[in-house]
Amino acid sequence: MKKLGQYWGYLIFALLIAAWWSKEVGPVALVILSALVTLYFLFRAPGWCGAETRQHTLCRNNAYGLLLGCHFREHKRQN
Ligand SMILES: [Zn+2]
Repeated sequence: MKKLGQYWGYLIFALLIAAWWSKEVGPVALVILSALVTLYFLFRAPGWCGAETRQHTLCRNNAYGLLLGCHFREHKRQN
């Protein structure tokens, strides 16, 4: 169940695609779902930090969201 908390964005993403396909979902719901998915990927999605290290490689530390880096404060600034 702990994993679910990390990946709920993907569930919403799947919902959003389903909503686009079915014509019964109103535009307001689509906008809300899109906003949630965007927020998820910016702040919550698990992945690599991706900041450039001093060795000019990409940082592979775990990070959450595209806007947030790993535990190095330097990386947070870069992202
Ligand atoms: Zn990093």
